[in-house]
Amino acid sequence: MMQRIGNFIDGEIVGARNGAFLDNVEPASGAVYSQVPASNEQDVEQAVDAARRAFPGWSRTPAEERSRVLMKIADLVEDNLQQFAHAETIDSGKPITRAREIEIPRAVQNFRFFATAILHDASECYATDYAALNYTLRRPCGVAGLISPWNLPLYLLTWKIAPAIATGNTAVAKPSELTPMTAHLLASVCREAGLPPGVLNIVHGTGLAAGAPLTAHAAVPIISFTGGTVTGRSIAQTTAPLFKKVSLEMGGKNPTIVFADADPRALAATVAAAFSNQGQICLCGSRIFVERAIFHEFVEQFVERTKRLRLGDPLDAETEQGALVSAAQREKTEQYVQLARDEGGKVLCGGARPTSLPERCQAGFYYAPTAVIGLDAHCRVNQEEIFGPVACLIPFDDVDEVVAGANSTPYGLSASVWTRDVNKAHSVAERLESGTVWVNCWLLRDLRTPFGGMKQSGLGREGGAEALRFFTEPKTVCIKTE
Ligand code: NDP
Repeated sequence: MMQRIGNFIDGEIVGARNGAFLDNVEPASGAVYSQVPASNEQDVEQAVDAARRAFPGWSRTPAEERSRVLMKIADLVEDNLQQFAHAETIDSGKPITRAREIEIPRAVQNFRFFATAILHDASECYATDYAALNYTLRRPCGVAGLISPWNLPLYLLTWKIAPAIATGNTAVAKPSELTPMTAHLLASVCREAGLPPGVLNIVHGTGLAAGAPLTAHAAVPIISFTGGTVTGRSIAQTTAPLFKKVSLEMGGKNPTIVFADADPRALAATVAAAFSNQGQICLCGSRIFVERAIFHEFVEQFVERTKRLRLGDPLDAETEQGALVSAAQREKTEQYVQLARDEGGKVLCGGARPTSLPERCQAGFYYAPTAVIGLDAHCRVNQEEIFGPVACLIPFDDVDEVVAGANSTPYGLSASVWTRDVNKAHSVAERLESGTVWVNCWLLRDLRTPFGGMKQSGLGREGGAEALRFFTEPKTVCIKTE
């Protein structure tokens, strides 16, 4: 009998009320291996109701106790790291080493970070001459709606859950139905950790049937969303007339900028930035601007290194490139590679489905990492988010040209700049329209820093103190003292 995942509502694992399920496919094999509840507004209603009932108790639970429960959740995820990593890999097609060494540990860190942050939080106080004392109370908002995508499933889900419940909100989370398994495992962990029923509820199902009713629900005053820009726009349209507090973390088309004086480590980092998780990280650097003096040499080495990436069964610890998450995501990638050819680009490697895969993975959603040259910064392939293993290399001559090219898309999520000239690094970082600029590194995260995107990559910031602020409502109390 195939495994059936349940919703997590009011502390219980339950099916969707309509009894319907969606198939859950393993991307590496293309086979259905479990089923996920096809929830709809009835399940959302039930979950919101449970979260509302849990709110008065949880929001008044002392910070130290909330912290203790979150730390316990972190410990239990860590104790079961192998199980979580295995589940994440089967569900998403990502290499097991990535799940085991980066993503699940980061989910653990999310809980630990916010569990301890709430113990050190302080609020403002202003003495107004001798007339009054003003202080700020920061209180949780109520029921938080948390919507997350499939590319970094547990990491991004916990990036929202941890600050939401740490600050005393209760929550209804809607993970992507393409990758529900680690959310399901998290539900059991939360029960074991003693999280009171209703504090966290997880409703599985499609964006339209389960996500949309959550964003529209009158009793959910705050929405944190990570996903595509088109979905973000639709959520903004739903929530704006309801005056909800909204944080949107959306798509990216991130530049990697390599100056001629870059450290040689730029090469490996640029390949990693382009193809990690099969190019399915919102922070991937898919537009690689290389200073003309080193362009040809860099491209040659980039291609050589890309060809050496080991594609294979994501459960194999040697695998560096797994499967894309779905047949649809691979088709989208293929269409963009065709567009690159149509726009006059030259495909230097990849550009096709790989031929030599293990028997088990023959029907999986694989696509070979692809490098393209010959396209300028303004063509569609370099303007639109592909979210697959496709990178374009573009030569540039000077700083003004590369900054203009990097800033030319509607997105502004992240950028990576490689130079040994510290003045140039500061100046370019300052000019880039980007929520995060990495200099001589990529994906180096400190959870205390604000995270989010400019332009169509995001609205608002999360991370560190920004997340604590987002998930709380400030109230000024003014006491007359004379
Ligand atoms: P989607 O926008 O398709 O989906 C994200 C989540 O929203 C899913 O749970 C989805 O459900 C749900 N959803 C879809 N439609 C609605 C709706 N109308 N109302 C409410 N919820 C809805 O993104 P993907 O899952 O395809 O993820 C990839 C995208 O996420 C890329 O654009 C990537 O750049 C972006 N992303 C951004 C990050 C950031 O930090 N800025 C980080 C990671 C990814 P369902 O799965 O059923 O469609």
